[in-house]
Amino acid sequence: MTATIIDGKARAAALREDVAGEVATLKRDHDVTPGLAVVLVGEDPASKVYVANKAKQTVAAGMVSFEHKLTEETSEAALLELVAHLNADPDVDGILVQMPLPRHIDTDRVVEAIDPAKDVDGLHPMNAGKIVLGRPGLVPCTPRGCVILAKEAIGNLAGKHAVVVGRSILVGKPVSLLLQNENCTVSMAHSRTVDLPSLCRQADILVAAVGRQEMIRGDWVKPGACVIDVGINRIPAPEKGDGKTRLVGDVAFEEAVEVAGAITPVPGGVGPMTIACLLANTVTAARLRRGLPAVD
Ligand code: NDP
Repeated sequence: MTATIIDGKARAAALREDVAGEVATLKRDHDVTPGLAVVLVGEDPASKVYVANKAKQTVAAGMVSFEHKLTEETSEAALLELVAHLNADPDVDGILVQMPLPRHIDTDRVVEAIDPAKDVDGLHPMNAGKIVLGRPGLVPCTPRGCVILAKEAIGNLAGKHAVVVGRSILVGKPVSLLLQNENCTVSMAHSRTVDLPSLCRQADILVAAVGRQEMIRGDWVKPGACVIDVGINRIPAPEKGDGKTRLVGDVAFEEAVEVAGAITPVPGGVGPMTIACLLANTVTAARLRRGLPAVD
């Protein structure tokens, strides 16, 4: 039997609809239109596409989008000045500085300069600390998307054994903490983990956030497990013609789909959830900044 394919596109569309509803309520009841500021430094083509999509979807949800495009040569001081300006701007509820930043800029310093109440990427140490403490706050978007998809596939996660492969600040660590907050028993794996295949085979929920194409094979998956593949790897696709490429995840999909109970595809799984969660975080920030309770 093959696994249920978890439709991240459809789940993201439903979340964006919920966000649009909440935005309409905020406008009607409180005369508030949430605003998201996105800052892009440099000309990275992938970052440009992400920023354009973020702006488009922000507007589609009824919010205001503020775009700041700075040149590659922008100094750290100038970027910090812009962040300070956005922190002080009452119309801005969320601030996202698109990563990666040029090498001459200290990423940690920039992230720490963002007002934690406007940190919709959830990367400020204050928000990271809140996840550790299990307190409500602004949660990183991709990890939040992973948990939403796992819940969509298997419902209550309590008591499940989750194995998270990868321990980055951006994905692996926050996913592990969020799953613990859902009462999973969590194992965190990384490049020094011994006998990764047998650890993965114990997972009811297997999250792959490694950045290595199809590293996790079908026989690493426990029959019936829920597999969340965060990896985005671009590989040559000669079958599509000269020089063409395609995206694959960190899981060997064709093998794993025969064993798992549910699995996210790449593309169309975790990826679409990231921007939808960013929009949801912006509404949360807009509400919390005005003393209104967050809507989950
Ligand atoms: P990082 O490179 O920051 O982290 C990779 C992690 O994988 C590290 O913790 C590393 O271990 C671990 N690792 C590397 N090799 C192995 C191995 N052989 N066995 C076990 N663990 C290993 O990557 P990110 O977390 O930023 O991203 C992971 C993937 O997710 C990438 O493909 C990225 O493109 C994708 N991604 C997708 C997003 C989306 O929207 N869907 C958003 C963000 C990322 P160690 O710590 O020991 O070095």
